[in-house]
Amino acid sequence: MKKLKNQKKYKLICSWLLISGFVSFACFGDVIETKYFKINLCDNCSPSSFAEKINATALFRFDALSKNGSDINSVIREGIDSLFLEVCDALDIKIQSYRGTIVVFPDIVEVSKIASGDSQIIEAGLPSIYVPSHNTIYISFNDATAGMLAHEMAHAVISTYFVVAPPPKVQEILAGYVEYSVRKKMGVLPQK
Ligand SMILES: [Zn+2]
Repeated sequence: MKKLKNQKKYKLICSWLLISGFVSFACFGDVIETKYFKINLCDNCSPSSFAEKINATALFRFDALSKNGSDINSVIREGIDSLFLEVCDALDIKIQSYRGTIVVFPDIVEVSKIASGDSQIIEAGLPSIYVPSHNTIYISFNDATAGMLAHEMAHAVISTYFVVAPPPKVQEILAGYVEYSVRKKMGVLPQK
């Protein structure tokens, strides 16, 4: 019931965004609330494919299947929160009260539209981006991976933790290190 209410709410917001021209076509389907994030999944983007793309079932502290049966939203919830804790561990930063948003757009085109509209962003024209002023990670469904999401989560943690933000290059090095360490742990680094 709550989920239906939420979906109705987001469809209304989506309609408003379309009318106001803020978003050209991307509308959202499932909304998944985790401990650390609200995830807005694009309409027609399959939650099970998203779970597969971010390799949710392979994440380190993952035990959702045993605890919550095979409900796919629980799999995503556990996967995302596990990934966030891994990012915090890699940075050795603890921010238990963190809350952010992950917007999953269908493709790189929509992510790039966000990227080109905010001066605070560090990188542009990429399949994913963290926008500090929105405290939101935007990611392309087509391109999403756990490493990519970990990279953007690292930007979110750094941006939230430091009162004075480190220089953009330092932030990029740290986010790159987190992405590398997560991919290494998951065994998804390219073979030499
Ligand atoms: Zn980055």
